[in-house]
Amino acid sequence: MKHGKQSSLSKNHMRQERYEEYDVIVIGGGSAGMMAAGRAAECGARVLLLEKNEELGKKLLITGGGRCNLTNVGPDFLEKFGKDKKFLFSPFSRFGVEDTLRFFNERKVPIKVEALGRVFPESDQAQSVWAALSRYMDEGRVEVRRNVFVKGFEAQSGCIIGLRIGGNDEVLRASSYVLATGGLSHPETGSTGDGFRFLKELGHTVRDPEPSLVPIRVRERWVHALSGTALEDAALSVYQDGKKIFIRRGKMLFTHFGLSGPMVLNMSREAKELMKRQQVELMLDLLPGTDQGAIDKRIQAIFLEHQNKRVKNILSGIIPAVFSEAVLALAGVDSGKPAHSVSREERLSIGRVIRRMPMTISGFLGPEKAIITSGGLVPYEVDFRSMCSKKYRNLYVVGDILDIDRPSGGFSLQLCWSTGFVAGESAAQYAMSVQAV
Ligand SMILES: Cc1cc2nc3c(=O)[nH]c(=O)nc-3n(C[C@H](O)[C@H](O)[C@H](O)COP(=O)(O)OP(=O)(O)OC[C@H]3O[C@@H](n4cnc5c(N)ncnc54)[C@H](O)[C@@H]3O)c2cc1C
Repeated sequence: MKHGKQSSLSKNHMRQERYEEYDVIVIGGGSAGMMAAGRAAECGARVLLLEKNEELGKKLLITGGGRCNLTNVGPDFLEKFGKDKKFLFSPFSRFGVEDTLRFFNERKVPIKVEALGRVFPESDQAQSVWAALSRYMDEGRVEVRRNVFVKGFEAQSGCIIGLRIGGNDEVLRASSYVLATGGLSHPETGSTGDGFRFLKELGHTVRDPEPSLVPIRVRERWVHALSGTALEDAALSVYQDGKKIFIRRGKMLFTHFGLSGPMVLNMSREAKELMKRQQVELMLDLLPGTDQGAIDKRIQAIFLEHQNKRVKNILSGIIPAVFSEAVLALAGVDSGKPAHSVSREERLSIGRVIRRMPMTISGFLGPEKAIITSGGLVPYEVDFRSMCSKKYRNLYVVGDILDIDRPSGGFSLQLCWSTGFVAGESAAQYAMSVQAV
């Protein structure tokens, strides 16, 4: 342990018998690992962070489209974690949303709140968040070793006694270890599921990871043609066997393969489950919450005002212009017709299509495009008061490697900050306790 905030720890340094080099080794330099390393060092531990990439936090830098949605201040925060919320009372009460805001504020990262409580750095740069975490680790003099591939753990009698790295199986030892190797999404960032393998080798239960929060592939060409279009407020209903199963409302994006954006990502898991049984249809509502009669009145008014204009050029008064061709095609109306020659039946059909544009799911993007992977270390094998494994007294597990369900919106990173903070502190305390023996 270092001299510093907790001066009594210096005595422990003298008594350190079992491990010469480090108090805490953190494996994985992503969001959770950086927070854990910083906190352990702040608590006085000598910390080594191992990262297989040439740089830390590659995934953090692409979060929120490069803007980093770092937490969420919306209501019912815990509820968003569904059945898993029971595990999270403790870490979120130790380091919750308010603590996250304070943490970044104190490190000169002013923040702003956007729709649905999403919090971003004012700079709109994930880099600011990354830099704050790097400074946090620097303040505690965390030693960082990049380009180091961790191969596995050595364990004995419920205790981790070392870890193997690199090609020559060099063994590194510390009093405690924080595993922060992430999940399986966007493997190019370094999250290739190594931690899942380590945990299985140690006898832990790992639920098979599957991509979760993924963009959806859609068959219809008109959808692909709208690539790049965003809708701030749309509704998508999910149908199976002609029956409406559920509906979601929010922001969505059109891409060259189908649909993405927060609302789509958040419904992807349920849609995927349904697809395992049978074909799933989607129905897009461009004007959710608007009465069908009111839509027809608006169409009538616009047609009257622009009687001689082509119908495809005037629908922009009601829906985003880029949708006009698709709506008219689905309604079976010639888009080149002047408004005055559109029949009543055709007009009503246009109104109906605006609220019901059918699409067919043809699949889901894979792990390389997922925001998170579901699956991972089952939560009942972790003591969430400390983030310690229930099988190994000096192993702490944090971030995406945990099998915790959550939606998009800043909840994943908050999970990283909370579990990282608690694990860093607990790992430092454990190191202190064994060295005091
Ligand atoms: C495109 C995208 C956008 C996202 N946007 C948001 C957002 O805006 N808000 C939000 O809350 N969440 C977002 N997420 C989710 C969020 O990024 C993750 O939940 C979070 O980064 C997970 O952090 P982690 O530290 O657990 O894992 P990771 O960030 O995956 O870090 C794990 C680290 O461990 C290293 N590692 C792995 N194996 C080894 C090994 N054997 N030896 C050494 N090092 C190893 C990896 O190289 C990596 O650096 C997004 C995810 C993606 C993919």
